[in-house]
Amino acid sequence: MKITKIETHICHARMRNWIFVKVLTDQPGLHGWGEATLEWHTRSVVGAIEDLSSLLIGEDPRRIEHLWQMMYRQHFWHGNGIVRGTAIAGIDLALWDIAGKLRGVPCHELWGGRVRDYVRTYCHLGGGKMEDFYDTAPDDAKRFGDLAAQMVADGFTAFKSMAVPETMPIEGLRPLHYAEACVKAMRDAVGPNIDIMVDCHARPSPRMGMRFAQALDQYGLYFFEEPCWPEQLDDMAEIQRAVATPIATGERLVSLENFRDALTKKSCSVLQPDITHCGGLTQARRIAALCDAHHVALAPHNPQGPVSTAAALEFGFATPSYIICESVHLDVPWRQDVVSEGFTIEKKGRIVRPNTRPGLGIEINEAEVKRHPFQQELLQRSFYADGAVGDW
Ligand SMILES: [Mg+2]
Repeated sequence: MKITKIETHICHARMRNWIFVKVLTDQPGLHGWGEATLEWHTRSVVGAIEDLSSLLIGEDPRRIEHLWQMMYRQHFWHGNGIVRGTAIAGIDLALWDIAGKLRGVPCHELWGGRVRDYVRTYCHLGGGKMEDFYDTAPDDAKRFGDLAAQMVADGFTAFKSMAVPETMPIEGLRPLHYAEACVKAMRDAVGPNIDIMVDCHARPSPRMGMRFAQALDQYGLYFFEEPCWPEQLDDMAEIQRAVATPIATGERLVSLENFRDALTKKSCSVLQPDITHCGGLTQARRIAALCDAHHVALAPHNPQGPVSTAAALEFGFATPSYIICESVHLDVPWRQDVVSEGFTIEKKGRIVRPNTRPGLGIEINEAEVKRHPFQQELLQRSFYADGAVGDW
């Protein structure tokens, strides 16, 4: 059996261009779907996949680990950057999809079978509508509370917000009070039994991240995400030690060594690999083993398209340390037209029952994808009040 072609299919979904990867084989009708979405890097990733294809055409798609090693190690430069890590992931997901289809079983059956009955999901405040998540003014606490109540009305038992504003390396009390007011409004709106998460987007400096974490500790957040740059794992570890709230990080990490460092430095209680950036399911399974060794929870980053979600869910059904899956459902109104999915989502609680179809259980509607051709992603530039560059 041979790989004959690797295609990329771009689908413009407002904030992101979903990059679907289709690996074709010489077996009639046998192909796999992956996803390599990396917002604002669409052309780079498509080019990287084309470069990697030269290593893979003619190879046996069943040798997933061997091909992964080739993609990561061949041609001198390792696949530990975000663009190549994403390109590798897109192909790797498609290879696992093929592996499941060949054996007629969902991917989670390939990894030892189901370890849970369902996977819990959480949503973004606003369900993935980017204006609600990213552009709700941090001093508009009432809006945070209203959107939180809506998420619970939609069936979710957990949601994530961006209640920490863009903050200069050192500021006084104002941003802290903003964040506190937003989290208090959400807690008041949903009560004590709903899990609230706050993503800092690594906006704060380590010291401001510490102050935010301490200010919000009293609200019992489910987790507090990227309180400082992920390059500053020692600082993140200090924050993790200083508060009771679990710290989460990992969506911008690519190499296994980065994930090892995040764990050995004890920087987090929740590790968030992005299966479409970290090198795919092959690498995610190694990261999960590291999580087991440190008894750290795993909750994949997953705001992208439907193949990413299918992969994140298959992974969840076979991974003991996995606690919850990020999801978006209102990013574009035609999301469900692009894909046929093998799993079912229960509206009450937004839990997902296992996929029963082979592989990742999805099929992409290529005609629908063609209706949404590439467009430049909406720019999201960030500047402080004085005009200096900040972190989005
Ligand atoms: Mg995040």
